[in-house]
Amino acid sequence: MKEQNYLDNLVGVFGQPVAENPGVVIQDAAFQAMGLERWHFLTLDVDKDQLENAINGLKAFKMRGINCTIPHKISVMQYLDEISESAKLIGAVNMIVNDNGRLFGENTDGKGFMMSLASNGVEVAGKKTVVFGAGGAARAICVEMGLAGVADITIVNRAQDRPLGDALMDILRKNTKTECRYIDWDGPFSIPEGTDVVVNATSVGLYPDVDAMPNIDLDSIKPTMFVQDVIPNPTETAFIREMRRRGIPCATGAGMLINQAALNIEMWTGQKPDKDVMYQALEKALGD
Ligand code: NDP
Repeated sequence: MKEQNYLDNLVGVFGQPVAENPGVVIQDAAFQAMGLERWHFLTLDVDKDQLENAINGLKAFKMRGINCTIPHKISVMQYLDEISESAKLIGAVNMIVNDNGRLFGENTDGKGFMMSLASNGVEVAGKKTVVFGAGGAARAICVEMGLAGVADITIVNRAQDRPLGDALMDILRKNTKTECRYIDWDGPFSIPEGTDVVVNATSVGLYPDVDAMPNIDLDSIKPTMFVQDVIPNPTETAFIREMRRRGIPCATGAGMLINQAALNIEMWTGQKPDKDVMYQALEKALGD
């Protein structure tokens, strides 16, 4: 007789606002393709002051794990039993694994970024990089690159957030061997010769502002460099379109998002999902 097991395996995302988060689309597509019929991804609107109750709910329902997005990435850390070393350095957790009530926190944003680079044949060890932005995504990316042995990071951000940039440099200097500096972004930025990897880790170009481009002297970006964007929506930004037109090797933020989500699935289920299926589901959902 066929085994009868109708128990649901739940994962999802806690956030606010969260209604436009496309996580469910890519994760459910992956579960279906993997034949994991009773795995479901829930998009859950959790108020800032309800996070502790939400975490208790996660334990009560024996959910296998959860993603955390704005505004919970930092505050959730107090409810966890263990946090990965890189998430501690980044100072934020975006995914949790629930092992029989014991909660482990990880930050897969920077790891998704590194996987995206690797899938394009780019290794950062010993390389020179320029990162635009100093927010959460930039922090995760710089810490992962620092831990992977990147030689040099120039962080470029608007002057108003100098303390954020300084804090990030402090983390890199104390925990990695990376040379780093912070430059105020007050005009078209020219990428220094000899740079290997250029990262747009700002929200410039994010839907609905889809024609916006980071203020970079585009002629200073050479075909010897690799450009990685973080924006997942649209799946191809105006910046990446322009890079492709100019023959500059590059990768989209959608690739980073898919890799991040694939890593989440692997940590929750122990199985590797089909990233092509996930990418197609994202493109279909965003209507690109
Ligand atoms: P934050 O709000 O923490 O940081 C935003 C950054 O963008 C800041 O450095 C900010 O500069 C900069 N910025 C915003 N507008 C401008 C502008 N007009 N000109 C120059 N700089 C600007 O956000 P996150 O770091 O969390 O997210 C950044 C982007 O990364 C988002 O678009 C998000 O969707 C994406 N992301 C993608 C992921 C993926 O898997 N693909 C994962 C995580 C994030 P300032 O400090 O001066 O305001």
